[in-house]
Amino acid sequence: MSDPILVLAHIDETSQINIGAREALGFAQNLSENTGRPVECGLIGADNSSATAEVTELGATKVYTIEDSLLARFSGDNMVSAAAHIVSSSGARIVLIGRHPSTLEFIPRLSRRIDGTCVMNVTRIETINEQYTEIEAAVYGGAARALYQIDSTSPVVVGLRPAAAEAPTPHPENSSDIVELNLELLADRVRVITEATADEGPRLENAEIVVSGGRGLQNAENFALVRELANLLKGMPGASRAIVDEYWAPPTEQIGLTGTTVAPALYVAAGISGASQHMAGCSNARLIVAINSDPDAPIFKYADVGIIDDCLAVLPELIELLR
Ligand SMILES: Cc1cc2nc3c(=O)[nH]c(=O)nc-3n(C[C@H](O)[C@H](O)[C@H](O)COP(=O)(O)OP(=O)(O)OC[C@H]3O[C@@H](n4cnc5c(N)ncnc54)[C@H](O)[C@@H]3O)c2cc1C
Repeated sequence: MSDPILVLAHIDETSQINIGAREALGFAQNLSENTGRPVECGLIGADNSSATAEVTELGATKVYTIEDSLLARFSGDNMVSAAAHIVSSSGARIVLIGRHPSTLEFIPRLSRRIDGTCVMNVTRIETINEQYTEIEAAVYGGAARALYQIDSTSPVVVGLRPAAAEAPTPHPENSSDIVELNLELLADRVRVITEATADEGPRLENAEIVVSGGRGLQNAENFALVRELANLLKGMPGASRAIVDEYWAPPTEQIGLTGTTVAPALYVAAGISGASQHMAGCSNARLIVAINSDPDAPIFKYADVGIIDDCLAVLPELIELLR
């Protein structure tokens, strides 16, 4: 049988797999259907038992697990050692990693450790054969696509772009082989002085609907229209950097290259020009609706639905309709 497609995931204190790992399993499943390779999964954490059951339901036929209390918090040194051990045990050449706050540290270090290569922001794997693997990735903040041809003699660590695939449907009747691996870990070389705590409640990066506003809103008060429409659609508000810099919206709501990356089913952009740095954070939305008074605004190149009009007239109308 050909070598497997391996999905790697860190299991944090919640003991659950995150959205990135679910998307990676969906991506792996699509690839498996096209290539006949089995999907396997490596879990690294302090307690992987419920995550093992979950990834099995989501299609992993073999689950490698490394458990240690030192792995409860993400630590680059130990994560890379554990992941490298799993990659060599599985013999995988294609290693998939979904969105996670630490991928920028983890993926390049892992690829170096296993003497392989890595590609970030991957949207598709075109071909896998004995000579090479062809991988498509989003570059220039999502404004263009690049196609990489990677020599098949070495493993490739693939960092997936958010929403590169949908999570698979769970099948509770699935079963998997479970392989428990052991590893001697290091005491952390990084000392955490103050731990940042994530806000409670829904997270912008996971929102299914995002309504964003930009400088076309004219002033800070009008951002209330964006919040209200987001609220009525049961979504979350977002903002361009231009208006975050003007203090019309908080930095936690900024979408883009230097803000949050979102991949919702619906993205409404009101009074946003569509600069590449903004689109880097939202171009993966499944449906983009743009409201802009300038018919030549760049956002219309990305939009599925374009409304050429004053957003200060359109937003209140949409709010009224939804009410
Ligand atoms: C290194 C770097 C990183 C960056 N990171 C980010 C980032 O993460 N996120 C981000 O957003 N930007 C980022 N930027 C800034 C980015 O380049 C743009 O300047 C910014 O996105 C513009 O915001 P805007 O679209 O709200 O404003 P503008 O570019 O001023 O556009 C306003 C738009 O509103 C339209 N408009 C005006 N009046 C109305 C009206 N009444 N009704 C409807 N439409 C109207 C105009 O036609 C225009 O298209 C970054 C820039 C750099 C250099």
